[in-house]
Parts: sequence; C-alpha cells; structure tokens
Amino acid sequence: MPYQIEPFQQTIQRAVSCYGAGLHTGRTVHLTINPAPVHTGIQFLRSDLPDRPVIPASVEQVSQTTLATTIGEGKRAVSTTEHLLAALRGSGIDNAVIELDSHEVPIMDGSAGPFIRLLKTAGIHRQRALRKVMRITRPIIYTEGDKSIRIDPYSGYKITARIQFDDALINEQQYSIEVTPERFMKEIAKARTFGFVEQVEHLWQNGLALGGTLDNVIAIHWDRRSILNEDGLRFDDEFIRHKVLDIIGDMALLGSPLLGHITANCSGHGLHHSFMKTIIENPHSWEYVTFKKNGDSLLRQAVRTTRGSGNRFAPLFRPLGSNISPQPVCLI
Ligand SMILES: [Zn+2]
Repeated sequence: MPYQIEPFQQTIQRAVSCYGAGLHTGRTVHLTINPAPVHTGIQFLRSDLPDRPVIPASVEQVSQTTLATTIGEGKRAVSTTEHLLAALRGSGIDNAVIELDSHEVPIMDGSAGPFIRLLKTAGIHRQRALRKVMRITRPIIYTEGDKSIRIDPYSGYKITARIQFDDALINEQQYSIEVTPERFMKEIAKARTFGFVEQVEHLWQNGLALGGTLDNVIAIHWDRRSILNEDGLRFDDEFIRHKVLDIIGDMALLGSPLLGHITANCSGHGLHHSFMKTIIENPHSWEYVTFKKNGDSLLRQAVRTTRGSGNRFAPLFRPLGSNISPQPVCLI
C-alpha cells in the first residue's frame, strides 16, 4: 500500500490529560499533552517544580538509560519517556508540550495504546510549516559485543528488530515493519513491556518498579515457559513488537522523522542512546530534507540543508519522476 510522508508539521487540536502510576515510584502522575507552535518539537514541562522547567525531548538531554530512558538532570528530569514518545512519533505529532507533575511518565498499561487513544481524542492539527526529515545517506552502525544497531538509506521509515533470549517462551523473535501511523497503531502500539519475575522482585527490594503490576508488565514465569498475566499475550510475538515500540520511542529523541531502515539486534535503551549519539556525530551520513506537495500538482519541492549554510535552506525543485537523487518522496 503506497503512502506518502506527511510534508507538514503536526500538533494536536486540543489539550488532553490522563493520570496513572509511575512505574518506579508507584505514585499517581497527572499528565497533559498540549498543542504547541511550529518548530517547538516535543518538550516536557515539570509543573510540580517551582520554576516549571522545560526539558526538550532530545538526544543531548539523555541522562540515564537503565530500564527506561531518562532525560534531564538531577531533579529536573523525566523518566520512562519512550512509550509516550513512540505514541507521538507513531501518530505523526511533531510539536507538543507534555506537562506532568512528577519525574515519571505514567506507565499506563505498559504499552503506547492508552497514549494513542488520548491522541485520537485530541485530534491532529496540520500546521503551516514544513517538516524537517532526517534522511540517511550512508550506513551508520553501532556495535557493543553481540548487540548491534544500524541504519541504512531507505525511501521510508522501516525497522527490523531481533531479540534472542535463552528460554522457551521468547527464544528468538524478529519483526520488520514500515512505520506508518496506521501500521504503528495496529501492530506495535499495544505491545506491552515485559520482565522476568525474579528481576521484578529484585527491583522491588531496591525500591524500584513499585508501580509495576500485572496490569502494566508482562511478567515471565520462573519456568521461562509461561507468563503470570492471566489474560495472556496480546500478540504471540508481543515481546519483539514491544522492542520495536521502544526503538521508535527512543529514536524520537533525534527530534525529526527519519528516512532510513533501522536494523537492531538485541538492542536496549543504552544501545539506542549510543547509536543516536553516533548518528549526530556523523553529519556526513545524513541530511535534512523537507517535502511539499503543491496542491494536486506533481511538482514537489525538496529543500535541503547544507552544513555550509548553517540552518539556511537551499530550495531545489524537482518534478515527480525525475531521476535526480535524492528522491524527495516516499512511495512504498
Ligand atoms: Zn518499553
């Protein structure tokens, strides 16, 4: 099914709120997603702190990657950002200010599903500014022992992920998806986070994961063959689907939609962070492009940044079907 990348920036039509427990503290967190002007990006705002600090969702802000991704420093931080960011990126939202009264995004049901429902209630608002898309032009690879993640040039946003666990339940799982809003919502958003029961117990003993219950984590039995959640799995391969969700959520910290194919092998939040830093450190392997469809005309406008001209855009006009690279439109 062909699709075209939305050329314009998007926010939500109206503010929407929810509340739920923080995974680690178990305390109730109130969260509001607000519309935001063009070029805002995604920002978190800590309404419980006196100066209401704003923390941009960006790679530079990542301070911790143990169990979840945390952005910001010290008290001025927000943790467990990945599922909400996956919902925003997966829905095609570029600009939003997320207000919360704690340092944790509520875990909800352990997936991005509740955030997707919230965003559907809010509605999408198309804005009057073009999106800046990060287009990968050369392979970028990051490896740590037998774990690896890479991104290759591709005319859409695709993720192929693989996990391997030494047990009968998960064993080896692989998933590959063209990340469109429709497929994200159908195949990925509802996949929940998971953990081994003894790990959860260990976390509890250390005062962590206090909000973790069978309502928001798939708990894998000691026997490694079954799960403790009575309702079972939402998908046979829910584990790898959740890994894809985490990758989408973490990659949202790059601040722009991606044009590239990510291939991840046994990756986690730490690896995602190192990989994103590697991308930033290799500016000759990617470029920013924008897309514009002029009414019904097939004339499309590609605007590329050049490192030499700083953030100034140099427009290039190309008719559809032109074989001049780069191809500015994604049709799959
Ligand atoms: Zn996760």
